[in-house]
Parts: sequence; structure tokens; C-alpha cells
Amino acid sequence: SLEEKTIDYKQVLENLYITIASEENKGAIATYIPELAKVDAKNFGVCFLSTKNEEYGVGNWQTKFSIQSISKVLSLSIAYQIFGDKIWDRVDVEPSGTPFNSLVQLESDAGIPRNPFMNSGAMVICDMLVSYYENPKEDFLVAVRELCSSSEIRYSEAVAKSEASVGYRNKALCNFIKSFGNIENEPEEVLDFYFHICAIEMSCQELSKVFMFLANPNFTTSKGSKVLSLSKTKRVNAIMQTCGFYDESGEFSFRVGLPGKSGVGGGIVAIYPDKYCITVWSPKLNEKGNSYRGMKFLEAFTTETEQSIF
Ligand code: GLU
Repeated sequence: SLEEKTIDYKQVLENLYITIASEENKGAIATYIPELAKVDAKNFGVCFLSTKNEEYGVGNWQTKFSIQSISKVLSLSIAYQIFGDKIWDRVDVEPSGTPFNSLVQLESDAGIPRNPFMNSGAMVICDMLVSYYENPKEDFLVAVRELCSSSEIRYSEAVAKSEASVGYRNKALCNFIKSFGNIENEPEEVLDFYFHICAIEMSCQELSKVFMFLANPNFTTSKGSKVLSLSKTKRVNAIMQTCGFYDESGEFSFRVGLPGKSGVGGGIVAIYPDKYCITVWSPKLNEKGNSYRGMKFLEAFTTETEQSIF
């Protein structure tokens, strides 16, 4: 029959953690943001949260880390909620096949970034939020806190400052897009907001909770409101599936088979719509900028549980 088999997620999680933690930890910590280089490479945490609220954590699952590009899903979702489908006039939904900080396609694409998860696309989304909010940094944090009913979510001023001090390429990107007229505000203000949202700190436990709005169709915020309609939820998950892992998005899809998003802090969030949200954190990154152990863990997790959205 097609009846679903019962899976002991907790057992699978714990066994895989022990196995992967005992294997060689390859890759390198991101050091281009000086503050990120200070993180202990040995950190390794996982948090599984089901739509039925079963929560299993292992390792450093309650330690906060820099979520970096994972924040791009939150800014996109919040902007999508505010502006609706108008946002697609200013940013596309195609995988880029180029690194996250690439400038090259912007010239032929007349300043329209390929997707909202590249730095360029995220900056255009940030620009919309900067125009909309009275106090962008404070108001955005309020919206994120409402997603996970927690006031414990903050920016790391040290990380934001550290990135701003070396962010020449991001400054170039933002100014370049501005030259095409696709940034409304002053680049300095947009960049300050962008560096801050990248510098949000969360644990695996908090991230799994924050991302539940993309997994659970019945999710409501701490204020009791819905974040995105089912159709918009589908779309955000689809962009994660096709664009969530830099120029390794095809590889992640091939190996793991779930929508997700990674960040250079070593975090990965993956969504199984209608079932669960899982977050892995391990700071060492492979050459494409995705957590080495994060990819490995999630591949083994979906393979072992024999569940797939495909
Ligand atoms: N703040 C980082 C940057 O713009 C984000 C990179 C990432 O996590 O992909 O370089």
C-alpha cells in the first residue's frame, strides 16, 4: 500500500550525527569577513522540527551563529508579503550558475538580478524594504521575531561592521545596480541594511522555528497572522530549490532533493513541505561556499529516511 511508514527521525538524526562527526571534516571556514574567521570549526549542530512540533536537536544545536545568506529567504518572504508579485519586476527567478557575489550578468541583464538569493538580488529586495520601513533594521528584526515568537534574535554589530569594512565587492554591486536605476535609496543605506540582515545570529533550533512558515501550511506568527499564501509559499520554496546553494544548487537538489538555503556562516536550512524543517550548522565550507558537513548530513538524512518530494 502507499501508506506512509513511520520513521524514527530522532534515531536517524542521532546515528548520522555520530557517524559524520567521526569522519574527516573537510573544507575551510569563510575568512573573507574577518569576524567569521573567529568561529570554532569544530561546531556541529542539527535541529529537526516537524510540522507536528516534534523537535530533535543534537550537538551544538542551541549555539548561535551568523546566518549570512540564509537571511535572504527571510527578506524575500517579508518583501513578498508586503509587495506581492510586483517584486518580480525588479528581480528574476532564474538560477545564475555563477557565484553569489557575481557582477557579470548584471550588465547584459540591465541591472535586473537573476534571483533574490544572489547578493545582487538580495540588495534589490533590501532596497524595497528600506523604502517601506520607517526604521528598516529595527522593523525587520520585529518581523523576524514574530516568525519564531522569540525576542532573542539579534544582529551581531561586530559581524556587520566587519563585513562593511571589507565589503568592496558588495559596494560595487549595489552601486552598479543603482546605475541602472534598480536601487531607489542611497547605496550606503541599502548596504548597511544588507550587512545587518546577513549578520543576524540564530541557532539551529531558532532557524528551524523561524522557517516553519515555509513548511507548515497552517503556520501563523506570534500575532496570529499568516505569512504567505500557499501559492507564494510554493514559489519561495521553488526558488530555494533552484537557487538556494550558489552555483551548487543543482548538486544540492540532486543529492538532497529538498528546497533549502545556505550561508557562508556554515548554516543550511532545508524544508520538506508539509513535514519538517531541518537546520544543520558546521562552519567549514566546500569550495562552492556550502557547509561540507551540512551537505553531507542532509544527503544522508533524506537517503536514510527514504523520503523525497520527488
Ligand atoms: N554577507 C555575505 C556576503 O555578502 C553573505 C554571503 C553568503 O552567505 O552567501 O558576502
